[in-house]
Amino acid sequence: MNDFLLTPELTALRREVRTFVDEHVIPNEDAVLAEDAKGERTTLDRLQAIAKEGGLWTPHLPVDVGGRGLGPMGMCAVFRELGRSPAGARACNCDAPDQGNMDLLLRVASESIRERWLGPLIADESTSAFCMTEPAPGAGSDPSNLATTAVRDGDDWVINGHKWYSTGGGKAAFLIVMARTSEDKRNGASMFVVDRHAAGIEHVRDMNTMSEGFLAHREAEFLFKDVRVGGDAILGQIGDGFSLAQARLVPARLTHCMRWLGLADRTLDMCREYIGRRVSFGKPLARHGAIQRMIADNAMKIHQGNLMTLHCATLLEAGLDKQARPYSSMAKNQVAKLLCQVLDDAIQMHGGLGYSDDLPFGRWYRSSRAARIADGPDEVHEMVVARDWLAGRLNLLV
Ligand SMILES: Cc1cc2nc3c(=O)[nH]c(=O)nc-3n(C[C@H](O)[C@H](O)[C@H](O)COP(=O)(O)OP(=O)(O)OC[C@H]3O[C@@H](n4cnc5c(N)ncnc54)[C@H](O)[C@@H]3O)c2cc1C
Repeated sequence: MNDFLLTPELTALRREVRTFVDEHVIPNEDAVLAEDAKGERTTLDRLQAIAKEGGLWTPHLPVDVGGRGLGPMGMCAVFRELGRSPAGARACNCDAPDQGNMDLLLRVASESIRERWLGPLIADESTSAFCMTEPAPGAGSDPSNLATTAVRDGDDWVINGHKWYSTGGGKAAFLIVMARTSEDKRNGASMFVVDRHAAGIEHVRDMNTMSEGFLAHREAEFLFKDVRVGGDAILGQIGDGFSLAQARLVPARLTHCMRWLGLADRTLDMCREYIGRRVSFGKPLARHGAIQRMIADNAMKIHQGNLMTLHCATLLEAGLDKQARPYSSMAKNQVAKLLCQVLDDAIQMHGGLGYSDDLPFGRWYRSSRAARIADGPDEVHEMVVARDWLAGRLNLLV
């Protein structure tokens, strides 16, 4: 039988990816992360070679640049499986933020920019970062607070500003920088592709956050002082910044949901063994009503988030990006919250063992907590949903 809403081909691909994750990635994920902490990548290289051989490399990209040409439904099939391990997406070179950045470059970068930056990114010989967020009072939940500027100087643009939370920025080869190019409310921002080592860029620090950094998931802070880029560095047209951000963020947000669903599902699966064998007050934990309620609640939440994600993916697949927007907000809000809840409950059900580093739940919780903030905090997505519902344009019984 085919998986829900997936074609026979995508059902088969999904199984292939699950096998790859179960047989290769999960048994090696600790080694990948331990080596990464020392700046090494022997095991990651080995996993990437297996992924390439199995045709699982950059699966989101069009076939002519080495991908599988997957649409949003295909990404659902693949990314939920890869998300079951923190190393899964990177093993196939489709982790955030590179995956969304590759898509953006392919769609709207000038030929010279694509030639310079895209090939190495697709080969995972380099990485990239997306620099939109600024410390207060600059752009955060509200992108219209954007304070970084780009001013035209002859054929060039000169960028000045302060960015932080640029995931993967410290080691990136290039940055996609959102900057103000006019005071126009709708069309006042543009995106530039900037060499990370260009004169005038100060990498202030990799920020210490609640989560220990791993792979590309390290957040950088940058100062831009008179950073000069050529006219070909602009993505799309001048003034396209906000609309491109939407175009990048809606599908990228959904791919986050897919990966997060995979991790939530694996986490809940991992609870089965302990609650089945651990006896408390005369019976296994799994036979206590309070534990069953936690399991049922989390199972239902994962199912809800999965349906929301699949529904939104069908809209994107049909090219209905604008209609998909409130549903992507719903999915992002729901899946981010359920991921945190599932991890918190997994810690609870495992007691002291769950809180210890003998199991990965604490580490996963610390990194997953960002899901409720990054790419728009919960409240902003709730605002979008409420706004569309109040305007009478949100169909709930799809
Ligand atoms: C791990 C991590 C990785 C990130 N990676 C990137 C990246 O690669 N590139 C990038 O550009 N940014 C990145 N971000 C930044 C992220 O997108 C911002 O943190 C987010 O948009 C919120 O902006 P802010 O932090 O300025 O919060 P603020 O705008 O200061 O908001 C603070 C809080 O106010 C509340 N709030 C805000 N607006 C409303 C509202 N309308 N109604 C009610 N409450 C509201 C919310 O609770 C919110 O959390 C990352 C963040 C994290 C945590």
